[in-house]
Amino acid sequence: MSTDGLKVLFVTSELAPFSKTGGLADVSAALPKALARLGCDIRILTPFYGSISREKFLFAALNGKVPSSVSFHANELPIEFVASGDWDRSAYFLCCDALFDRPGIYVDPFSGKDYLDNDYRFLTLSQAAYRLCDYLDWIPDIVHANDWQSAPAAHYLTLRRAQSGWRNTRSLLTLHNLAYHGLFPVETVGRMGGAESLYFPGGPIEFYGHVSFLKSGILMADALNTVSPTYAREIQSSYDFAFGLENVLRESNSHLQGILNGIDTEVWNPETDTRIPHRYSSEKPEGKRFNKQALCGRVGFPVEDNIPILGIVSRIAHQKGFEILAPLIPEILGLPARVVILGSGEPYYEHMFYEYSRVYPDRFAVRLAYDEDLSHLIEAGSDIFLMPSKFEPCGLNQMMSMIYGTVPVVRATGGLADTVVDADFDTLHGTGFVFQDYNSDALWWAIRRANSAYHHRERWTEIQKRGMSRDFSWQRSASSYLELYRDVLSRPVRFA
Ligand code: ADP
Repeated sequence: MSTDGLKVLFVTSELAPFSKTGGLADVSAALPKALARLGCDIRILTPFYGSISREKFLFAALNGKVPSSVSFHANELPIEFVASGDWDRSAYFLCCDALFDRPGIYVDPFSGKDYLDNDYRFLTLSQAAYRLCDYLDWIPDIVHANDWQSAPAAHYLTLRRAQSGWRNTRSLLTLHNLAYHGLFPVETVGRMGGAESLYFPGGPIEFYGHVSFLKSGILMADALNTVSPTYAREIQSSYDFAFGLENVLRESNSHLQGILNGIDTEVWNPETDTRIPHRYSSEKPEGKRFNKQALCGRVGFPVEDNIPILGIVSRIAHQKGFEILAPLIPEILGLPARVVILGSGEPYYEHMFYEYSRVYPDRFAVRLAYDEDLSHLIEAGSDIFLMPSKFEPCGLNQMMSMIYGTVPVVRATGGLADTVVDADFDTLHGTGFVFQDYNSDALWWAIRRANSAYHHRERWTEIQKRGMSRDFSWQRSASSYLELYRDVLSRPVRFA
């Protein structure tokens, strides 16, 4: 599809490899790359957090420009932009040390609590999108915001439209996870700028007496989308998925569609992955066995080819289904099987997993950390990958797992339902094992089915091969985003 140099400003609070807490960072890195390949003039704006290493990455200040500021009420905050010098995408980093030069992205690692001024921090990001355009003397066709952190960019676009040149710009908000609304006390209205008239009961920024950044974006963006077709339906269906925004989303129905995320196949490809010790493919699969041995060595398991390793790489959060997995751990270890978990989050599960690893060091391993290298080794060295999520907007690990010949066991929700085909119910196309109900019995049934298939080598190899041949690259999804951009450009402004 020709894009005629469509201009897109992609505003995001996370950008791999610079900053990451989850899938948003991967999407922010891979989707713009795929869109640029399709001819889009796409530029990324993201904060320069204190955790970004100036030694590891090169940065260059934008030359010949005067530093700018953003204003909120009585405060003027000086801001600056730097560009990434050695990266193949046009990425600009918002420097505002008072707000972003901290060790955490959203959460203070010392207290474990959200930063109290997260409203300020991400309003600054959303407003700075327009300062960046002034800097660059560049007016985008589309301002593409992501989740609550940049959702207010849609509000700021409605204010910008009064300026010449901006009348034809449209906004798109991508919803990556409805569990996080960006909720703040009513005082935040004053910090937003130009928002006083929008705050009233049932109004576009009000949510049960609070300010909701996400609701503001849902109602003010010219178009909305989410990251899988099933999640698009789920978030309109019940509180369990949208946490109170389901009615607002239903009313926006004509604007909401689900575009499945892809994975960056330059980063996630067992044939070329330099983070794993042995590369392999479905034609030459031997390397997978050696990676399993390397994983055993790394986490302290004895090497045992015929005992499956069940891997998990995940935020340890309620959403990810640990409450239905935890009661099954003794039974899983008794299959026999081994479990490796990489992730961090809720202390209750962190402690439980740590205790299991202490009691069963040869069968249960947990690394309470964020570790890119180990995440690749777990994908390559495990046999089965577990994602029993309560809800999963898209999920990336099930796709990575299939590409790495690691058979996923998933709950049929969101993007998991859209990407994994059950190998018992569709013997010709099955790539994993899927269960419906959110409870331990249903999960146990799926794990047992996976374990039994694992011990039928020929059948297992077939399932692995089918997963490894799936195309989860961004190309298809990027074309869908382009269509959506074109579509929204042809529509009238939604919120004036
Ligand atoms: P979510 O965005 O809900 O956390 P996704 O499946 O969409 O879930 O994306 C999670 C991404 O973060 C994947 O790339 C996964 O490999 C990565 N990830 C999660 N936890 C860790 C960790 N502890 N170490 C390394 N990578 C992790």
